[in-house]
Order: sequence, then structure tokens, then C-alpha cells
Amino acid sequence: ALTIGIVGLPNVGKSTMFNALTKNNVLAANYPFATIDPNIGVVPLPDERLARLAEIFGSEKILPATVSFVDIAGIVRGASEGEGLGNKFLANIREADAICQVVRAFEDGDVVHVDGKVSPTSDIETIHTELILADLQTLEKAVARLEKESRIKKESRPAFENAVAAQKVLEAGETLFAAGEKAGVDLDLAAGLGLLTTKPFIYVFNLDEDQLADTDLHARLGELVAPADAVFLNAKLEMDLMEMSAEDALEMLQSFGAEESGLDQLARVGFHTLGLQTYLTAGPKESRAWTIHQGWTAPQAAGVIHTDFQRGFIKAEIVSFADLDAAGSMAAARAAGRVRMEGKDYVMADGDVVEFRFNV
Ligand code: GDP
Repeated sequence: ALTIGIVGLPNVGKSTMFNALTKNNVLAANYPFATIDPNIGVVPLPDERLARLAEIFGSEKILPATVSFVDIAGIVRGASEGEGLGNKFLANIREADAICQVVRAFEDGDVVHVDGKVSPTSDIETIHTELILADLQTLEKAVARLEKESRIKKESRPAFENAVAAQKVLEAGETLFAAGEKAGVDLDLAAGLGLLTTKPFIYVFNLDEDQLADTDLHARLGELVAPADAVFLNAKLEMDLMEMSAEDALEMLQSFGAEESGLDQLARVGFHTLGLQTYLTAGPKESRAWTIHQGWTAPQAAGVIHTDFQRGFIKAEIVSFADLDAAGSMAAARAAGRVRMEGKDYVMADGDVVEFRFNV
């Protein structure tokens, strides 16, 4: 499964947020693997359509899609030089598919900031700098090797030029994710060299309770990291929300001017950043969301349920959630001509409710 690595300076609220992520008891019951590794937090992707499907099909259970987060402790200034936890830290980031940086915006005299003052701009820069320095080290060796190679083999020339272009971006103090494409860097090719800053970044701003409804502040912080996605939350509040019933949690959120918990937003943003989407299945046993990559075809999607479904794929019976919701039952959707048969070239759309036909 794809994972998002959580990073950030010490004392910004990473552990607090991560504890909230792993406190999800409802989820643990359905996904036992979620509690096995203490460093992995699994968050359900909120999806109101599942409750409606369960109503239509009389499903016993609802199984949402999930997003996995890994706690990557230990970034400090100097991490790229392998100080302290540095090497382990970099190895952990290498394994993550996206990087979620927690940035402190809350003011609290009792919580020491490593640099002595709360400054989202400089915190973000510190982390970026460590990752950029690590990439420059990786590139130093790679560029030398690719230069030699390209003198012997013409085919290696583009890889060499790509590495040099990446080096320029990093030397200018920018991540490849933020500035690589504009500078003509092929990010996939660069990622193949193990460059960390090619990974998509998400930023979580850990706010005070009274900053939660401050949309001007959100806009200013969001601008710091645009076009990357930003999520605004209060890590301590997220912990408290986890211990409440859904109704109490919603009431609490609304009292702070929010409609959705920060972790729900994070799950959504994470899912999107990883290039994922869902399709839905429903029956008396369960209504369920399945995770696929954007652009996958029907047989590929079937393979997520079982490899036999993909191998023996014949066709997919599909109705969009909106049509099914409006019709109120499969029979009514069918009568209205809203249920389609799709073949092996069909590209799945978000909200497709599917039943696969296959040979065994
Ligand atoms: P980490 O080092 O980044 O993992 O940070 P922790 O999660 O351990 O948090 C450091 C300290 O900040 C702890 O005392 C937390 O209780 C406190 N803290 C975390 N989030 C918030 C917050 O949103 N507001 C305030 N005031 N304190 C927080």
C-alpha cells in the first residue's frame, strides 16, 4: 500500500497528531493490520456515499478506503549529514510515497521551539534544506557516474542532462516537486535516482484553537506552500475528537467553525496527492470503497478485489452513485436505463458502483 511519511521539526505536534491517527478504534476493528505496526497510522477516507449504499442494499458493514501514514521521527538541522537519526530518517523518507510536513503555527510559551521562535516560513525552509542537501549529495555521485556513462553510451545522455537540470533546481534552494517540472526536469527519471524532493509534499499547519476559524491566516499560510495542498488543524483537538462520539465530535468542530476534522481533511488531501481514487461495491454483506490509481481500467480495478477477477474479467456492470442514489434501488436504476455494461477498456470513474462479471 502507498504510504505518506510524516515529518517535521521537534515539538511541532507530530506525535500528538500521529497518536490521533492511530487512536481510531472503529477502524482497527475492521482493519486489524492497522494496529500491528506502531509506526503506521491508518485513516479512513470519509465517504458519505457508503452509508447511502448500505441503506439501499441493507449492508451489514461499511468498509471505507484508507490512507496510511508513517511516523518518520528525527529530522533536525544536520539530518542530511547523517547526524543522530539522520541516516535512518532519510531511509524512511525514501520508502514513503509522499511527504507530509507538520508545521507549527500555534503559540505556547510552555512548548519550546527548537529555534526559539514560532516561524512557519523558517521551519518549512529548514526541512526543505535538509532534504535538498540530501538530494544534492545523491546527485553528486549520480552526475559523475552518468557523465562517464554518457561519454560511452549516447542513450545515457538524457539521463545525465536530467540529473544536471535537477541539480540546478536544488542548488537554487527549491524542491524538485515545487520547481522541477517548470525547469524541465523529468520527475519520474529523477525519482529513479532516489531523489527525495521529487515526492509530492503536503503541509499540515498545527494551529491554536482560536486560529482554526481564521481564514485570512489559512490563506497566508497556504500561500507559503502553494501549489502544494495545505491542511489546517489543531493536533490536541484532533486527539480529543477521537475520544468522542461522532455527534459530539461534529458539535465540537462546529463550535470552532469547522465542518470536518483535520484528519478527515488530511485523508482526503493525502488520497488526492497520491493520485488515487475509489470505486464502490455494495451488497447485503458490505458496502465498500476500493482504492485504485486514477486512470485505471475496469480489469485493473477488478484485480484489487482479487487477481482472479482481473484474469477472468468479462465485463463490469456499472451505475454511477448519483444515478443509483436518485433511483433508490438497483432495480429502479436498471428500469431507468442507468446501468451500463462496460468492457475491458473502460476507464473507471470516481463514484462508479460496480459488479464484475468474470470467468474462474
Ligand atoms: P513532536 O515533537 O513534533 O512530536 O511534538 P509533540 O506532539 O510531542 O508536541 C510537543 C508539545 O506540544 C506537547 O507538549 C504537546 O502537548 C504540545 N502540542 C501539540 N500540539 C499542540 C497544539 O496544537 N497546541 C498547543 N498549545 N500545544 C500543542
